[in-house]
Amino acid sequence: MKVLIVEDDPVLADGLTRTLRQADFVVDCLHDGKQADHVLSAQKYDLVILDLGLPKLDGLEVLKRMRRRDSAMPVLILTARDALADRVKGLDLGADDYLTKPFDLPELEARVRALIRRGQSGGSSILSHGALTLDTGGRRAMLGSAPLELSSRELGVLEILMLRSGRVVNKEQLAEQLYGWGEEVGSNAIEVYVHRLRKKLEPSGIVIRTIRGLGYLLEKNEQVQRQPGVNT
Ligand code: CA
Repeated sequence: MKVLIVEDDPVLADGLTRTLRQADFVVDCLHDGKQADHVLSAQKYDLVILDLGLPKLDGLEVLKRMRRRDSAMPVLILTARDALADRVKGLDLGADDYLTKPFDLPELEARVRALIRRGQSGGSSILSHGALTLDTGGRRAMLGSAPLELSSRELGVLEILMLRSGRVVNKEQLAEQLYGWGEEVGSNAIEVYVHRLRKKLEPSGIVIRTIRGLGYLLEKNEQVQRQPGVNT
């Protein structure tokens, strides 16, 4: 799950980034409103954590422009303790939640998970595909009643494929969701994660199909057998 933090206080930005990375989120961080406006008009995040007092462009203006572009990305605003008017204005402009500074990092993490869940599956955090289930909040996957042992990146790949089940996901989309800026993506890293996932899913009959030149598609085995000649 990918989060953008927009916060000009370097200590707070660093603390937020580290907390969320430890909790397995992919995190990008920006320090002014203008950059944020620019990036948000081109990239998609599962959540934006937006400080309101920002250099170059105010956080409320960043939010207003996002909503004007019809962007439905969930937004959590960060406000000063006494800035009630800002908070109200932020919620009016379409923020999904707010936190008042100073806040506890565990509380932030809990709110972030809740907002992402709400944004992605209408409140439910359980994705399912045949015998496979994935709890996006608890970061766990199960095959029937048996837990599936996955690394954090493998779980990330599976989550994206399940969220877009029935649609082809290309390598660039996977890399974009799995890595933050400046994180090195090994040349065949995505292939390696997909390969490992395939092995682990093998007993269940669930297949990650390679659509040559396009990407990957999650499907159940019987669908493949009905389409002979497809490269899996
Ligand atoms: Ca600030």
